[in-house]
Amino acid sequence: MTQTSHIVGIDLGTTNSEVAAYVDGEVRVLGRGSGCILPSCVGFAPDGALLVGEAARNQHALYPERTVRSIKRKMGSDEKVSVAGKTFTPQEISAIILRELTDRASRELGGPVKQAIITVPAYFSDVQREATREAGALAGLEVLRILNEPTAASLSYGAGSGERETVMIYDLGGGTFDVSIVSLEGTVTEVLASHGNNKLGGDDFDTLLVEHLCAEFEEENGIDLREGHDSAFARVLRAAEEAKRRLSDEPYAAIREEALVMDGNVPLHLEMEISRLDYEEMIRPLVEETLESVAKAMSDAGVRAGELDTVLLAGGSTRTPLVMRTLEERVGRAPRQDVDPDLCVALGAGIMASRQGGHDIDRILVDITPYSYGMSYLGDRGGVEYPHCYHAIIKRNTPLPVTRTDSYQTSGPYQEAVKIRVYQGDDPDALRNVPVGQFKIEGLTPIYEPNVVLCKMALDLDGILHVTAIEKETGLSKAITIDNAFKARTDEEIAGNRRRIEGLFGNADGDDEAVDGAEQDTGGEPDAQGGDPVWDGKAATAEALVERCRALLEGMHDEDREEAIDLIEEVKDACEARDVAALDEAAVALRELLFFIEGK
Ligand code: AMP
Repeated sequence: MTQTSHIVGIDLGTTNSEVAAYVDGEVRVLGRGSGCILPSCVGFAPDGALLVGEAARNQHALYPERTVRSIKRKMGSDEKVSVAGKTFTPQEISAIILRELTDRASRELGGPVKQAIITVPAYFSDVQREATREAGALAGLEVLRILNEPTAASLSYGAGSGERETVMIYDLGGGTFDVSIVSLEGTVTEVLASHGNNKLGGDDFDTLLVEHLCAEFEEENGIDLREGHDSAFARVLRAAEEAKRRLSDEPYAAIREEALVMDGNVPLHLEMEISRLDYEEMIRPLVEETLESVAKAMSDAGVRAGELDTVLLAGGSTRTPLVMRTLEERVGRAPRQDVDPDLCVALGAGIMASRQGGHDIDRILVDITPYSYGMSYLGDRGGVEYPHCYHAIIKRNTPLPVTRTDSYQTSGPYQEAVKIRVYQGDDPDALRNVPVGQFKIEGLTPIYEPNVVLCKMALDLDGILHVTAIEKETGLSKAITIDNAFKARTDEEIAGNRRRIEGLFGNADGDDEAVDGAEQDTGGEPDAQGGDPVWDGKAATAEALVERCRALLEGMHDEDREEAIDLIEEVKDACEARDVAALDEAAVALRELLFFIEGK
């Protein structure tokens, strides 16, 4: 009896590779969980054993000279690589990766894998495509087709199954970037234009972070990890990559590497925290560079932003929020992210392979959230402070399950409580969204400076939303669970919310229900006491007066200074007691004093 031979689709990536095939009526990437991604790394252990994938990647920190990474960058060149004293062509290293993938596939599919469709970047030259085909042959595969990665990605998103569509595929992987404008009609795909940079990717983001970490470490300890500390440097590289991934979901990432190097007998640790904002500033020029390619590709294709039907994301680095945000700003259309960007190229190759095998597959089914979720905060709207600013933390169409964290600041000094109001929707005005829950976190450390509060949202496949507020400095936290986050809201509920908006305009004293907390780090902030918008406005105005006054304290005459200090105290007391009359009185007196002093 002979076993049927399977056809698979393979994404042979610079950083990671995957294999997909038709299984039980659907196309999926083979392997379980994170095991379906094979790092494109090959190495030899000290005992000579061949290591492929995760094992090779893990030993890179210890034995960089025994490990090869990013071989795709050398495909098609005559350059050979030396590893553990042996020499290989790029095709041979790629063949080892392909062989590992097909071995895994045949184990899972329960039969031999002899034929494959392998993807390559649209900009790959004939020589590079030939080298890929040769790698397949070396791995014992008949390569039925070399498929362009953007075409594969668009297949996985189900684009092109009907009417003519113009699609942009923005693909930012580990080592390469390319953007393609593709016209799809039925099964015909035409790449209208493609631009990119095969030396730009998430690895470069890692390099910038590593540079930053090494520079800080050198400043603190006087040791340059970039010179003669190969294994310590490889550990920093790994830690930086992990931190970078965390920064896609969280506003801060802590890095700790114990005993990185020895200073005589003293072990030196690397201990640092990076904020997403600082990280985004580091990588912004590289992200801008990709957008120049986007503009070129659109101009070459003769396509204006408004003519794009869809923008699709591929490549792990597109999970970087700055990438998604700037791309959306530039092309004026939110990119689709309903297929895992790490897997969409492999899935597309898998769909093509299934069709070759006679199975009719249209698209992949994924579980995504139909709604966005976020919380309200005190922020700026058209130059005016507004306590119901809103920003989605989990965006609709994100694959599930998902966990995202954002950071906010308390809006007043010595604030000990923050009210978290959770909404479903996308409107920048929270009151135009649907409220789904609220809670108050109390007992925050009363400090004068803005206190950072993290809001973590975790949404699972069943629509259960866990929201946690965490004081960053102390870890103090409070959480709620919203069981029916997916529930469509009734018209009455939405109308009720609208009435609250109208009430705000008609009734200056406001309705306490309509008040939200927290200011976002990137512009807005969670407000503490859960007060009303009128109170928030008064408190913010008084706070601004206090700031102006503080800045002038040093140059004041003794008498004025004393009066100013007293008034600052009065503002503080009024804020703590939430005493509107006392706050008004202190603010008026402060304003008068300032008028007098600033006019002098
Ligand atoms: P690919 O070549 O498509 O496999 O993409 C790999 C690149 O994506 C590597 O540089 C990864 O560090 C990067 N990457 C993977 N996950 C994330 C994430 N959550 N945030 C940012 N970059 C990521």
